[in-house]
Amino acid sequence: MLHYPIGTSGEIIHFEPAVLAHFAQHRQLRFWHREAGGQLFARIDGQRIVVSEATAPRPNDRRGRFFFAPDRACEQAEIDAMFARDLHYIGDWHTHPERRPTPSSRDHKTMSSRVRLSRHHLAGFVFVIVGQLPPPCGLTVIVHDGASGHVLLPHYGNLPTNPA
Ligand SMILES: [Zn+2]
Repeated sequence: MLHYPIGTSGEIIHFEPAVLAHFAQHRQLRFWHREAGGQLFARIDGQRIVVSEATAPRPNDRRGRFFFAPDRACEQAEIDAMFARDLHYIGDWHTHPERRPTPSSRDHKTMSSRVRLSRHHLAGFVFVIVGQLPPPCGLTVIVHDGASGHVLLPHYGNLPTNPA
């Protein structure tokens, strides 16, 4: 099972298979594929952050090969609807037409400005970039604390159980 420990915080991010399948479906594998992206929602179970929903793309997102601007009105509606299901907004995802994606300078600015939107108690805002290769090589997972971003390294194996 693929998961991402957040530094030494003890928190672990895990992506449910449906979320990984949603990412895979929107990979930019052909030159005419445009960037896609949306929000990430998780169940928070102790120190486990189980990413259960990845939203979008939406009809009114603005999308280009190297460009993505989400429909901001939809975003708040998604946050409200998911919160009613006890799913917390933890961050954003988007695609890049790169095999192993790296954040652009605009991505760094976006990450810094989005941190204030995450109202959970995690180490920071989660930012996923979906590249062309399958995970883990093609999946870049970053936690941003408002000042800087940290790329998380994948781990395989069973999730540790929460202490009772
Ligand atoms: Zn980007």
